[in-house]
Amino acid sequence: MTLLSVVAPVYNESAGVEAFVARVEEVLSAWDGEVEIILIDDGSADESWARIAELADRDPKVRGLKLSRNFGKDPALYAGLEHARGDVAVVLDSDLQHPPELITEMLAQWQAGAEIVIARKRTRPDQSFVVRLGSNLWGRAFAQLSGIDVQNTTDFRLISRRVREKLLEQGVHRPFFRGDSSILGFHTVMVEFDPAPRATGRSSFRIGSLARLATRSITTFSTKPLHLVSAASLFLMIAALVLGIQTLVQWFNGNAQTGFTTVILLILFVGSLLLFGLGVIGEYIAAIFEAVRGRAAYIIETDTREMQRDPEDH
Ligand code: UDP
Ligand code: MG
Repeated sequence: MTLLSVVAPVYNESAGVEAFVARVEEVLSAWDGEVEIILIDDGSADESWARIAELADRDPKVRGLKLSRNFGKDPALYAGLEHARGDVAVVLDSDLQHPPELITEMLAQWQAGAEIVIARKRTRPDQSFVVRLGSNLWGRAFAQLSGIDVQNTTDFRLISRRVREKLLEQGVHRPFFRGDSSILGFHTVMVEFDPAPRATGRSSFRIGSLARLATRSITTFSTKPLHLVSAASLFLMIAALVLGIQTLVQWFNGNAQTGFTTVILLILFVGSLLLFGLGVIGEYIAAIFEAVRGRAAYIIETDTREMQRDPEDH
């Protein structure tokens, strides 16, 4: 029988995780395959893990993984994907903003031959103007720089077993599911949905963490910013040369330039450009540093499946 793995990261969702599982099971009760629901507690500070352990205890479909600390959403869902055993997997948020009802449509697409099904947001309620603007800018920049269009897409995706294996084979040190699963190729289908407002709790992504995610995703997927920095320096050199020649000519003609403003503006402009360039290079050095360190993207502290097996093993 076909096995579907539902993978959902959980961070401070103690009030909603039970309702989430109930709704997923309700939707999938009509499906004629088997289902496992993998909930990854990403180092929650609330009672999420207690709720997950309870659920896993009374519901054999549910498996809980507890990470040793908060690693972030992408590492958490990779932990889930690594432990999934399904012929097909669906990743979605555990706050019910990704309507589980859509899974049915995704499964239909999979049965029709799709290996990746991406849920795209039709509307974006629930987001402030600044976040929406930032997200649009990032989407454009990311598409330009990496050649991957992830605008309005989400982590709400279905992937076949083959795609999941390829994804995990890449041994990603800096997991970015939306990008990682988009560069593999394979037959991909888009479906659309309207995100629901959060049922309980609050979003854990503030502007700061969104900005970090944006920088990390770009530096992981593109080296173009580095080339842009060199291009900018070349442009400035030529401009300086032209300006220098012009000044020299004027000096020979006997009317030397005065004017402080230009000098100060130029110093400020070049100075900020230099700092920007250093910053960009720094981002890449940080990425190299992390890769060289080879640190685990996540650490699993507890797995409810192993807890259940233990008594028989010994
Ligand atoms: N999440 C996580 N680790 C984190 C932050 C969030 O696993 O460090 C989970 C969270 O429980 C939810 C999903 O990722 O299931 C999306 O998070 P959130 O709703 O806070 O983000 P938003 O919907 O505002 O983008
Ligand atoms: Mg959310």
